[in-house]
Order: sequence, then structure tokens, then C-alpha cells
Amino acid sequence: MKIYNSLTNKLEEFKPLKPDKITIYICGITPYDTTHLGHAFTYISFDVLIRYLRFKGYQVIYTQNVTDINDRDKDILEKAKQQKIPWNRLADYWTEKFLEDMRALNWTFPDHYLKASEQIPSMIRLIRKLIKNSLAYQIKGSVYLDISEIKDFGKLSKLTKDQMLKVAKDFEEDLDNPEKKNPLDITLWRGSTPSQASHIPSFNSPFGKGRPGWHIECSAMSMSTFGETIDIHGGGSDLIFPHHEAEIAQSEAATGKIPFVKYWMHTGTVSYKGAKMSKSKENLVMVSDLLKKYSANALRFLLLSNHWRNNWEYKEEDLQKAQKNVELIESVIAASEAESDSAKRPESEDIPKAFTEIMDQDLDTPKALEFLSKFPSARMFDILGFRLEK
Ligand SMILES: [Zn+2]
Repeated sequence: MKIYNSLTNKLEEFKPLKPDKITIYICGITPYDTTHLGHAFTYISFDVLIRYLRFKGYQVIYTQNVTDINDRDKDILEKAKQQKIPWNRLADYWTEKFLEDMRALNWTFPDHYLKASEQIPSMIRLIRKLIKNSLAYQIKGSVYLDISEIKDFGKLSKLTKDQMLKVAKDFEEDLDNPEKKNPLDITLWRGSTPSQASHIPSFNSPFGKGRPGWHIECSAMSMSTFGETIDIHGGGSDLIFPHHEAEIAQSEAATGKIPFVKYWMHTGTVSYKGAKMSKSKENLVMVSDLLKKYSANALRFLLLSNHWRNNWEYKEEDLQKAQKNVELIESVIAASEAESDSAKRPESEDIPKAFTEIMDQDLDTPKALEFLSKFPSARMFDILGFRLEK
């Protein structure tokens, strides 16, 4: 099987670290709002990857996180303050809403689904390692990773320093923080201050009370479940910089094991009305709204009719077409099941080589759907994550 690796920018033969066991970490949501189509595209793309690898006989262990706490004041903390509710209640509410939407889409639940706020000891251990290796420094209860010590910083994003500064600024990273030696230094631990507002939580640590940085969370949670290296790390392409670049820097600096991740996979972005779907552009299309009008299979068909690496634009007419296409496949499968021996289950169906060849080529779901439309089969329908029962 070939997979496109964003670290090398090449289509590569997929060779897992261990022959039959694959470790996958996918960056999860920051739970403060509803699941939109961009989220669904990322998580359903990886859902199909996991289903397909399992179909191929691999044991796949899948970890995903929930960023319910991080070093930023905005998002969850700001919204919780506006709504006058505790931050963790807001985070739990939106996590449950996300899971509801994803369950409706027949999403594969991770083997480890980790809340950042419950994994703080592993983050502290990793930060202590970085301090011990003289790669991180402490100032007034905060800890930062010294980027000048990371010689290959930028190897994932391939950005110049000026480009990094620009992207980091758009991401509202704390570039102007006077405690940092270099504006791009990564906040590993944000120390609490005496004047800190009461709605902002504090956790105990050897560095003083505070909270972990967003980027260290995923390094720590990946290592606590899988060890120092993993096969696949995925997420939306907007996470390449700074989030995943920071994860590589922190993880490799702490362990000395290179690479931290063998294959980096980044999904494309979804636009609507000419702009990338985002809260600030007010052009979000919510999964829960679409599911009021269309079936989960139709929505999955639409998502998979776009290759996981491509950027695409949502148009309702495409979802209408997807609904028609998927209903046609469903009706053919239902008719052939009614005809055939009732003891015959989809698991016993042979899968055409043409289908696996398509999927082996960088998980080409748009072509796989074309094939499925020509030759409807319950087993292929199932491998692509569609629900069979009506
Ligand atoms: Zn992450």
C-alpha cells in the first residue's frame, strides 16, 4: 500500500514499524463548538484508513485526544466565562455533542480516547525530560522549549522563519511574550499568575501551578500510549504548523529517537461559499444540521468522494447527488441479499483485486466509490464504513 507522507512530501510504500501492528494518533477537537463538515472530513477520512488497514489484517491501535485544556485563554475558557459555566462542563458538553455526531456517521471509536486534562502527569514527565536535556528553560513558573537548540525545526512544514512567524501570528501564538528568548519558542507550561482570572484553571506541577501548552499535550499522549515512535500521526493540514512541527521538536528532543512519527498524514480543508470553513468567516456547515435532511451514508459518500488530501468546496447539490448515488447502491445490495442464501454474510464475500488496488493507491476513496457504484457489494460498502442496515 502507498501513502502520501507530508514529512517527505512523497508517495511512499507503507511499511509499519512492526510487521502486523500499527499505531495511529489523530489530533482531536478543542471542544467548545459544534462539529462542522471540515471536522467530519478529517475524522471520516482516518476512519476509512483504519477500517481498511484492519480489513488488510493489521492490528491497528488508534489514539485520539480531546484538547479540553491548553495554554490559551480563548476558545473554551473564554466561552465558558461568557456563559458563566465551569470550563470543564463546557468541554464535556461539546465533546459529547461531537461524539453524538460522529456516532451518527458510524465513526470508529478510538481504542484510547484521551482528555488532555486527565493526562497532565505524562506532560509533566516530558517537560522535565526537556529541562534535564537543557532544551527547555523555566521563567516565573512557565516553561518554554528553546527553538534555537532544535537544529531541524521546520522539517515538516518546510517554512522559512519569516513564514513561521506569520503563521504563528495567525494562530495567535504568544509571540510577544517577553519571557521567551525567541518568539517562536514553544510554551510547554504556562504558569498561573496571582492576577489570573478565577475562571482559568490551575494544575499542580514541579514548575508551579499552571496548565500545559497545547503542543506538548499531543507529544505526551502519543508517547504515553505508544512509546517513543509511532507509525501514523494525522490531522487537518492546518495543524502542520505550529502544532505538528512543535510535536516533532518536543518529542525528538526529549527522546533522541528520530523519527517520532514515520508517516504524517494531513487532510485537506473544506470550503463553503468561497472561503475555508471557519468560525471567524461564519460559514460553518454543521453535521447535525445536514443529518436532519440527509442520511449518514449520503454524508459519508460525499466526504469520501473527495480524496483525503484534497481541498474541496461544499455544495448542497453534491450532497443531493451523493444521497441518490448511495440509495442506488443500497437498493442493489438489498436486492442481492434478498435473492442470495440468507446464511451468506458480507464477511464471506470476495473483494475484487481492482478495489484493493484502488485503495492501496493512497486510499483513493473517490475511485473506490466509482467502483462500488458500478459493482455494488455489501462487503466493500462495509469496508468504506457505510451502515448496511436500513
Ligand atoms: Zn494534536
